[in-house]
Amino acid sequence: MEVDYIIVGFGLAGMAFADILADNNKTFLVYEDASQTSSNVAGGVYNPVVLKRFTPVWQGKQQIEDALPFYKKLENKFSAIYDHTFDTYRVFKSIEEQNNWFVASEKPLLNSFMDDKIVKNSNTGIIADYGFGRLKNTGRIDTKLVLQDYKKLLEQQKSIRYETFDYDELNFKEEKVHYKDVLAKKVVFCEGYGLHKNPFFQHLPMNEAKGELLTIYAPELDVDFLIKASVFVLPLGNHQYKVGATFNWKDKSLKATEEGKKELLEKLDSFIKVPYKVLAQSAGIRPTVKDRRPLVGIHKEYKELAVLNGLGTRGVMIAPKVAKELYEYLEMATPLDPECDIQRFYKK
Ligand SMILES: Cc1cc2nc3c(=O)[nH]c(=O)nc-3n(C[C@H](O)[C@H](O)[C@H](O)COP(=O)(O)OP(=O)(O)OC[C@H]3O[C@@H](n4cnc5c(N)ncnc54)[C@H](O)[C@@H]3O)c2cc1C
Repeated sequence: MEVDYIIVGFGLAGMAFADILADNNKTFLVYEDASQTSSNVAGGVYNPVVLKRFTPVWQGKQQIEDALPFYKKLENKFSAIYDHTFDTYRVFKSIEEQNNWFVASEKPLLNSFMDDKIVKNSNTGIIADYGFGRLKNTGRIDTKLVLQDYKKLLEQQKSIRYETFDYDELNFKEEKVHYKDVLAKKVVFCEGYGLHKNPFFQHLPMNEAKGELLTIYAPELDVDFLIKASVFVLPLGNHQYKVGATFNWKDKSLKATEEGKKELLEKLDSFIKVPYKVLAQSAGIRPTVKDRRPLVGIHKEYKELAVLNGLGTRGVMIAPKVAKELYEYLEMATPLDPECDIQRFYKK
């Protein structure tokens, strides 16, 4: 079998890259072994403002401008709804935070998202004595559903193999890559935290962070916006909410833990005062990089091997943009953004 590309890993990165190949009539084969869960468990939230400090997310506005049409296109392709828009309400802890919000909401990159008025809390189920700051034009992508739908299409096209990619089986001949029965021009590795097993790219400085989330049922809460306090409470519909997420830089297992649950519930109870039931708990590893920038580019020796990783805490927004940049780099030699290019780690 001969293809233009092999893609290893089908999370948000692999999906965004596969889609751009499909749009450009390139042939590809995906390998996916379900060893990582990040894209499937993610809250899927997009929001271009850092809600701790009220600063713009790195390239956030541009990323959203690339990302939303991408998911819209997939909605049309699969006749499904993935993008659920809502406002985000940031709970203020003090008057000082209110003031910081006012100042930030006047800045050019932020003013199309941050409402400059304080929203008073009228919901008896929420503790928010200093009110909320309202962010407009935010939402969540149902990452699990879009990945599921996309995989079904690839199954029909026989473009996905559910098996672990074995790095030892790679051979290089005449500027092509041989992998078992497949001959490809290039291999793009999109393995998320799985990168640490990849002998070609495992030297890249990841600083991955495990995250845990709960799904709760809270019939009396009755909110249709995302509440952001020490954790977020994200409306899923039918009185269900996702609560998250933890950050753990030591534990690299995919297991949901009692400590994770306890931490989330303690934080939740500090600003929610309605009864709720925990329905589920999930965990995943965010592929975060030491310098907090994506990992995009080609291997310094094997030019047929590329990497698309390091989406960190914001894969929903970043994936479509960096996938496009990698594609244009590989096919048209358009230079990569030096902040994302893995060459930054090769320079002395
Ligand atoms: C708890 C939590 C909450 C989050 N919330 C948000 C959020 O609200 N908004 C947001 O934008 N981001 C969020 N993120 C971050 C987001 O999930 C990631 O940025 C994104 O999913 C990374 O996508 P990826 O495709 O690079 O990696 P992954 O999703 O990890 O995908 C990699 C894929 O490669 C496969 N794979 C790996 N190795 C191999 C191999 N050798 N052979 C075959 N297949 C292989 C894995 O099985 C996996 O499917 C969250 C993450 C977590 C953990």
